[in-house]
Order: sequence, then structure tokens, then C-alpha cells
Amino acid sequence: MRSTIGVMAFSLAIFVSISFFSKVTIAEDYNTNLKSALVTYQSAPVADKTKALIDLVSVTQARAVYMKSIAEDNPGLFLSLLLDSATLGTMPVEAKQFLEREVALKGTLRFVHYDTLDGSVFPDRYSLLNIVDKQEYALAFVNKPTYSLSGTVVSLSGVAIENMVVLDASRTVTLVSPALPFSTKGVQKTLVMLINFKNNTNQPFTPAYIREHFFGTRSVDAYYRENSFNQTSFSGDVTTWITVPYNMPTSCDSALLSDFKQSARNEAIKQGFNPDNYNRLAYLFIRMGACIWGGTGQIGGPESVYNGEGGIGVFIHELGHNLGLHHANFFDCGQLAIAPYSSCSSLEYRDYYDDMGSTSDFPFQFNGPHKFALGWLATSNTVTVTKAGTYTIAPLEKLANGPQILRIKKPDTYQIIDGKRYDDYYYFSYRQPIGFDADALLPPEMAAGASVHIWSGYIADKTQFIDTTPGDGIRPNSALRDGAQFADPINKIAIKQLKHDANGVTLQVFYNTVQVAGKAFNETTGKPIVGATIETCQVANPSTVTNSLGNFFFSVPIKGQFCVKINPVSQPGLSGPFLTTGFEGRVKYEFQIAGWDCAVLHGCNSWQTTLDRPVDNGYNFKYRQP
Ligand SMILES: [Zn+2]
Repeated sequence: MRSTIGVMAFSLAIFVSISFFSKVTIAEDYNTNLKSALVTYQSAPVADKTKALIDLVSVTQARAVYMKSIAEDNPGLFLSLLLDSATLGTMPVEAKQFLEREVALKGTLRFVHYDTLDGSVFPDRYSLLNIVDKQEYALAFVNKPTYSLSGTVVSLSGVAIENMVVLDASRTVTLVSPALPFSTKGVQKTLVMLINFKNNTNQPFTPAYIREHFFGTRSVDAYYRENSFNQTSFSGDVTTWITVPYNMPTSCDSALLSDFKQSARNEAIKQGFNPDNYNRLAYLFIRMGACIWGGTGQIGGPESVYNGEGGIGVFIHELGHNLGLHHANFFDCGQLAIAPYSSCSSLEYRDYYDDMGSTSDFPFQFNGPHKFALGWLATSNTVTVTKAGTYTIAPLEKLANGPQILRIKKPDTYQIIDGKRYDDYYYFSYRQPIGFDADALLPPEMAAGASVHIWSGYIADKTQFIDTTPGDGIRPNSALRDGAQFADPINKIAIKQLKHDANGVTLQVFYNTVQVAGKAFNETTGKPIVGATIETCQVANPSTVTNSLGNFFFSVPIKGQFCVKINPVSQPGLSGPFLTTGFEGRVKYEFQIAGWDCAVLHGCNSWQTTLDRPVDNGYNFKYRQP
């Protein structure tokens, strides 16, 4: 998987280490209280036996709630706090049902993804639908498995308290069969269950309101119909409010959620809805303050859960997970559009133009690779580019007769997922303000050119949105524009946008060369065109100016896409730091410019050029061929 942000992991580690010790203390207190309640029970005279048993069971139950609440975040701590077999052996049967036991289960894994309310990353979780008792078990792993799609069948063993199982995937999980391909098309028959609690029977939405948001005119159904070119739709039912026989939870573990969901299904049956008749189950709870997530979705599985959320954006997002998608991320390579992955970060969500990246009640359609992943684009709508040439693609929003996606292999990178290799590709698509994209106010810059993503082809691998104008901190201008290009100097691929209109965008694909700022370089020889003008450039960070071997060099992003090194041969009039203000007139500098990609391809590409004095802020300048 691609790199994430180290700083966040660091601050999280500090947080965990502080709370860890208090959790140990609390758990040890539970064990101490339990043992003393057991001694009290064992030594109680016959007359007091019943009361002592009730006390013991009560302590055991409270300990079980606590142990389940720490299992997912601290499975190692859970295992270190287990009772010794002598204590367990002498427990009366009434208490044993709340105590740890060894379990061996076999069933279907469900890979559950949680979406936090603030966009931070929440750890993915797993549950198992056990074949024998048809119960859902929450799984807490010491070492997580690699499976990332629901539907994988496994056998496993671990230590359980009620329906929470703690185990080690590297030692106690055996693959029985991998997840079968699942359909992303057709009618998704959905049962929405509205759920509140014994001590909180609020009904924040009416069933009619939720029915309209799932199946009405501006709904989940309408979104998926438009997005899929009428290949995927949603229909179904909404229950009236179900009050489960539990209080509003004060902790938020998956085992508790499984209990709530089981009760809700039982109540739905009483209302006349058989959950077995639906291929999507949506559990809409009133807001549970103990849970920091807004929604969860099984990736490639049937269930989604909502925490007080009632808008279509979050429904569409979690159901997108059910269809097998993961997030639409933004790929941040700093001042460069693309660079070796070690110097880039994949920022979670942050592809604002896809509801899997930025969830909104005015949702954008899915991006190019997501539509491809879901099988919504036919072969005739997809071009896998293998040679240089000019290609036109139609807007992504509605089905076209011709190409809507260009796929270009990115040979230097691939992903290994579930032990299988998936090659990265660039995906070029073209967005226009049509339908949901018009409602969501697609920015004009996004509609003026091709969007670029990287994706491996594995349905649940996150898509990576590329900013073709990096370093300016502005996201809407990430798309290409006429005359601009996206260049991958590592793979020597460049894609230049020639023109666009409402019907399509035309792109020229170059292999084995990187065309620098179009007009200035001969595309075949890589040499500069005499008299050509290279457009205004900006020195991104003047502090990168250094003095090496007597020569200056600094990096200049040209149109924000590509860097060249410029070695000044002479610096007439230059004194002090380069590119300071205070130069009068048009001072001529002579440079050798080595396009570092061109140097690989064409040998020496040095030439002389003229640098005008800084034109504003001291950092903008123009240079042109002499
Ligand atoms: Zn999500």
C-alpha cells in the first residue's frame, strides 16, 4: 500500500501510550474484584449464596463489557488480562457465559470500513458470519489478515468473550476460499432499518424522509442510476422505528453493534420485512455519541451502518463500499505532479470530485477509475493506450458511444494485494457540469481539462487523484488545461492537452520523451526550438538555491509539472542571493539548462538562454531562447 503520513502516526502513538496504562489499571481492578466476588460466593453460607451469585455475575458482566470495549484497540492487552484456568474452572455456570472461552469458528469474513465524522482515519475492522450458529462475531486481530474484500471464507480459532473474538491472523486463521466475484450491477434491493434505544426513543427522521433519500427523485437510487448509466439501481423498504432492548451505548465496539443489528433484524421480521429477501441491509441508528464515526460499510459486503446520518452523501458513500470501492484519495507529491512514491503521500479522502473522496449531500459522481472498477464502462468506452498518438475522450457523466477513459500503464509501480500483483495505470477522464456534477457545482477549472488518477485495478484499492498544477495548494485546478501537459519523467511519458469543448477533450500522448513546456522543445530531438518562448515560471522555493562546485543550481517547476536544473554559466551583475529584487533593466543571464529527463534520453541538452529580471515578488521571471 502507498505511504501515509508519519506525523499522524507519531501523535497517535503518544495518545495510545497515555491511555494504555489507565486501561491496564481498570482491567486489573475488574479481575481483582471478580476474584474477590468469587471467594465471597464460595465461602458464603447457604442463606447468602443467591445474593453472592448475583453479585458475582454482575461483576462478571461488567468485566465482559469492559474487556470487549478494549479488545479492538488493544487486542494484546486483552490477551494479557485473561483469567488463569484455575479461576475460570471454579466459576459457577451462571458467570461462565460472560467469561473468556476458546472458540473455533468457520465462516465468511466481512471487512468493515469506518468513516469518521472529521475525515480522520479509523482502523478497519473485521467480523465473521459463523456458518454453524449464523451469529456475527466481531474479530480483533493481534496481526491483521491481508484480505481486503468481504466474502473470504476462513476457519479460525481464538479467545472469545461473548461475540468478541481476539486472535492472531498470522497463526490462527486459515483461508478456506477467497471472496467470489460479486455483482456491482442490477437492482440493489435494500432494507433500511431505523433504530433507537430503550432509554432514547428519539425519531430524528420519518420513514418517508429516509425512503425519499434512498429511493426518491433526488436519492441514492437516482445517483447510482445516473452514475452507472442505468446499470445499477436501488429499491427496497424502510422500517418504522425499531427500539432495540439495549440502552444507548457508552462505548462503541463492534460486538455491541452486532448485538444491536441482530435485535433490529428480529424486530424488522416482526414488522413483516424478511432481511433474507434483501441484498443490502442498511442500519440507521440515532446518533450514538460514544461512536466517533458517521457511517460504516462492509467493503464488498451487504451491510452499512449510519450513526445519526440522514443525508444522501453518506448513504451513497457507504453503499459504494458495499459495491467494493474504497476511498478516492489525493496523491500529494509536493512540488511535483508525480514523483517516486517514497516522496509522495496518499491523503485519505481528499479527491473532492468523487463521493468516495468527499461525502456531500450534493455528491459528485464517481471518478474515472471508480466507474471503470464497477464495470460501468464498456470496452468501447475505454482505451488502453500503448503507443503515442492523439486521443479524444467524451465527458464521464453520461454514456458516450466512444472512449471516456484513457488508461496508460505506469510501468515503474504496482501493488501486491492478497499476494497478487496489480499494475498501476494512469486514468484520464473528463468531467463536465452535467446532472449530479452540475448540482455539486463542478468548478470551471475541473471542466476545462482532463482529470488524472492512478489506480491499480484492484476494486478495493484506493484511487489517487493527481494535481497537474502542484505546489499551489489549489485543488480545483488539478485538471489539465489546453496547452498544458502532465509528464512522468520516470517512465518518460507525457500527456499534453490539445483542446477541449463540451463534447470532449483531446490529449496527445508521448512516449520516450518528455516534452517540456510544449513550444520550447522539439518533441523528437528534445532540443530547444530557437526563438521559442517558454512561459512564465515561478521559483517555488528560492531557498533551494545553493552553491555547488562554483555553480548555482535551483529547481524551476515549468507550468508546475516538471523540473529542470538550470546552471548559470555567467551571472553578469549578480551579486548576493540569486533572484533578489533590485536589478534594473533587462539583465541578460546565460544559463545551461539541463532537462534532466531529456539528458537521459538525448544526451547533453545544454544551451544558452536569457533570463529576464524578476517581474514580481522577486521570484517570477521569464526566460526564452536567445
Ligand atoms: Zn469510507
